[in-house]
Amino acid sequence: ATPTALMVGTGRGAQLGILVGGPQVLESTRRVDTVVLDKTGTVTTGAMAVDEVVPVDGGDADELLRVTAAAEAGSEHPIARAITRAGTDRFGELPPVTDFENRPGLGISAMVGEHAVLVGRPRLLADWSVTLDDGLEAARAAAEADGKTVVAVSWDGVVRGIVVVADQVKPSSAEAVRRLRDLGLRPVLLTGDNRAAAEAVARGVGIDEVHAEVMPADKVDVVKALQADGRVVAMVGDGVNDAAALAQADLGIAMGTGTDVAIEASDLTLVRGDLLVAADAIRLSRRTLRVIK
Ligand code: ADP
Ligand code: MG
Repeated sequence: ATPTALMVGTGRGAQLGILVGGPQVLESTRRVDTVVLDKTGTVTTGAMAVDEVVPVDGGDADELLRVTAAAEAGSEHPIARAITRAGTDRFGELPPVTDFENRPGLGISAMVGEHAVLVGRPRLLADWSVTLDDGLEAARAAAEADGKTVVAVSWDGVVRGIVVVADQVKPSSAEAVRRLRDLGLRPVLLTGDNRAAAEAVARGVGIDEVHAEVMPADKVDVVKALQADGRVVAMVGDGVNDAAALAQADLGIAMGTGTDVAIEASDLTLVRGDLLVAADAIRLSRRTLRVIK
């Protein structure tokens, strides 16, 4: 009778938009006690937009946006897509770019005309001994306290300003976190983004354990460390950066709206990319397991 019970469970799952990787998944859902949530694209929509363009004192906001938008044109990162879109919306054509280089988890570098441009986390610029001045630091602190992400820009070794980008917390995220807690799971937020922005988002949805400023390759280590602490970990993610962590987790849950790599690395796929369904998926497969036994 067990195969039938399993099919009923997965059939109902399919109705809800949950794809189950295999029967072992049901057992994992029973044991998990911790759920790690990727911030961008999972708790938030991932639909970034430019919120503010702040040139350094005496600088020109239009030039800052034009050069930054051009430099980011070669990047697939949601932050880069937002900045390039803002630039083409405002100026149409953007200046030509050469020597584009991705710096995963940090930003990009490129030549825009004659300028050697860096765009990314303030830490990326700091590696080149470029720092924000007091005015830009103040603008940065205010934006990050609001849960926004600050991208710093320099060219030719001189800081030129910051571009503030933001996405929205998904309307269902707070309710989803509540339901995950009701299932006895402890929620953890994981992100490469800065600590202040991560904590603002976490507070907004009711999460108190935050791992921020985690480099893409280190996300898997956060999952391993939790497991070494004796926790049984579900991980929910959507991005290329999340694939190793999804595979390492005891239960990997991919947002169906995310990348194929993330989906392949996972046990469960949520077709609609809604975190509420993650709670439904865990509840449903626990119930299915009870039917089977
Ligand atoms: P997340 O974990 O939120 O998906 P990533 O690991 O991709 O983030 O990136 C971490 C941080 O590095 C971003 O929040 C951003 O500050 C910076 N960053 C990465 N790529 C870019 C880029 N192309 N342009 C600007 N900033 C970037
Ligand atoms: Mg992400």
